[in-house]
Formats: sequence, structure tokens, C-alpha cells
Amino acid sequence: MKLIFLGAPGAGKGTIATRLTERTGMTAVSTGDLFRAAIKNETELGLKVKAIIESGDLVPDELTVALVKERLKEETGDKGFILDGFPRTIAQADALKTFCPIDAVINFVVPDEKIIKRLSGRRLCRQCNAGYHIEYMPPKQEGICDACGGELYTRKDDSPESIQNRLSVYAEQTKPLIDYYRKEGLLIDIDGTPSPDEVCDAVCKAIAQ
Ligand code: AMP
Repeated sequence: MKLIFLGAPGAGKGTIATRLTERTGMTAVSTGDLFRAAIKNETELGLKVKAIIESGDLVPDELTVALVKERLKEETGDKGFILDGFPRTIAQADALKTFCPIDAVINFVVPDEKIIKRLSGRRLCRQCNAGYHIEYMPPKQEGICDACGGELYTRKDDSPESIQNRLSVYAEQTKPLIDYYRKEGLLIDIDGTPSPDEVCDAVCKAIAQ
């Protein structure tokens, strides 16, 4: 099965993608993670996109589409994949159609107030990339990853200014994809406010139908 995870930043796409891959053996392809890895490794792409990502703007469509196209040429396993955070513009969705048909689009619905609270408390592990939240999913020891003992950090684009920018970028450029995929009969709305396990249950139920 080939899925798209759609939703505002902080709607839980990454968290649910990780759980769903654990439950189903699917592969998660996160453009945000691919860009952050490129920045960490100081590749040519990483150097190009660093400032854009830290400000909360979107990386240009050509670069993003090329990245996803390359990634999908590599192994994704026989259980299918989840595109987490791609497409984010109509142009990206049009491009995706030309190289990869999709079975369903999961739209995580979370009110704005909750989104801001989620993003500002978010922490990531520098070593293994595991995600935490200081209030909703705290690590056992403050600042330390439960899984690998790595140091936890706050993403630069989770600063208050970048959060505001990312939310307006989402409203202007990504939200129109909800209607785009609804018209194609692919959209499934999922309430993203319950616990990650409950949200993951709802996604599994929806894609089994
Ligand atoms: P995420 O981890 O999904 O929140 O993505 C972090 C940042 O990576 C975004 O704010 C964008 O700057 C960039 N990014 C991720 N996915 C895309 C995409 N599909 N199109 C353009 N930029 C993206």
C-alpha cells in the first residue's frame, strides 16, 4: 500500500508513521528527515536547504520532487510505504502523479492551539532521531534519549517565529491539497488529537477497509 500522510506541522505525521511502520513493516519516507540528514552530513543539497528549513519556508519543488523520486528508486520493501510530509504543494502532487500512483491520503486533523503546544515542546534525539515531547511523551531522564542515550535537542524550526511561519506556509500552500485529494476520492480524515496508539489504531482501521 502507498500512503501519503498530510497534516499541519505537529499534527503527528512523523510519530504515527513510525508506529505504523513498526506495526505493518511499511517503510516511512520523510522528506523532512531526508533534508535534515543532508544538512547534518553537509552535502551539497544540505548546504542549499539549511537556511530555508530553519526559517520554516518550503524547499523549492524541483529539489524536493527530485529527492523523493531518487528515494523511491531505492528499496522500500514489499509492504509499501508512507510519504510523510510529501507532497506539500499542488505542483508536488501533480509531479508525484507522473511517477507514483497513491492508494490513500491520510489527513491528520488537529486544532491550531494544540499544534502550537505540540511543536514548542517537541524534542528529537541527535543520534537516533527518536521523537519526544516534554509534556506528552517525556523521556525517562530529561534531555536524554530512552532508546540510545543520545542528547535531545529542539529543532531550529520549532522556534516561535519559525512555527508561525510554518503554520502560514501550511495554510497557503499545503492545505489546498485536502480538497485536491478529496476530489480524487483518496482522502481519509483522521482525528489526530487522541494518543498516538489510538490515532495509529484509527489509521490501521481506515486503511483495512
Ligand atoms: P518536517 O520534518 O516534515 O516538518 O519538514 C521540515 C522542513 O523540511 C519543512 O518545514 C520544509 O522546510 C522542508 N520540507 C519537508 N518536506 C517538504 C516538502 N514536501 N516540500 C518542501 N519542503 C519540505
